[in-house]
Amino acid sequence: MTELTVEQRQEVIIEAALDYMTHQDWYWCEDDDDPEVVADLLRLYAVDPNLPPTPCSGSILFDTGVTLALTWEAERRAEYERSLPVWICDCGTRYKLEQWALSNESFYTVTDDGLFDELAGTLKGKRGIGSVPPDPKYAANNGGCITCRKAFKATIDRQADPQTSLLFDLL
Ligand SMILES: [Zn+2]
Repeated sequence: MTELTVEQRQEVIIEAALDYMTHQDWYWCEDDDDPEVVADLLRLYAVDPNLPPTPCSGSILFDTGVTLALTWEAERRAEYERSLPVWICDCGTRYKLEQWALSNESFYTVTDDGLFDELAGTLKGKRGIGSVPPDPKYAANNGGCITCRKAFKATIDRQADPQTSLLFDLL
């Protein structure tokens, strides 16, 4: 195998990353690649040109592209988590909610830089039935606040009701 130049190596890795992202449905383009996405990948690649390969295809270059794609996805994920508003329980505990299907929501505690921390609980369906998170830290929790234990669903309903909200403000 002939040695690739630095530019060729970078090109192959970026191509592999785009392939992998397309395969994962993270990225789609009809003709030319999205210059913004390519610029993001080049920027991330420049940060660490010696990215370790993620075992995937057996080709070191392709698998390095996979690592680059995963890095790109993690960055998008962090951007998304930061963009979500904070929801505050009546007791003052801060959460971020992720709606992952119609009326199915997960509640996460929030890190100092606005990312999801721990999964605190999940609500399912219109009646907001609490379910035990698959993640074990708050496994004893059943759809309620980790601090005051009040059911998330009850607090959300109360906050949505202007009359009881007013009453609550007076208390
Ligand atoms: Zn609470």
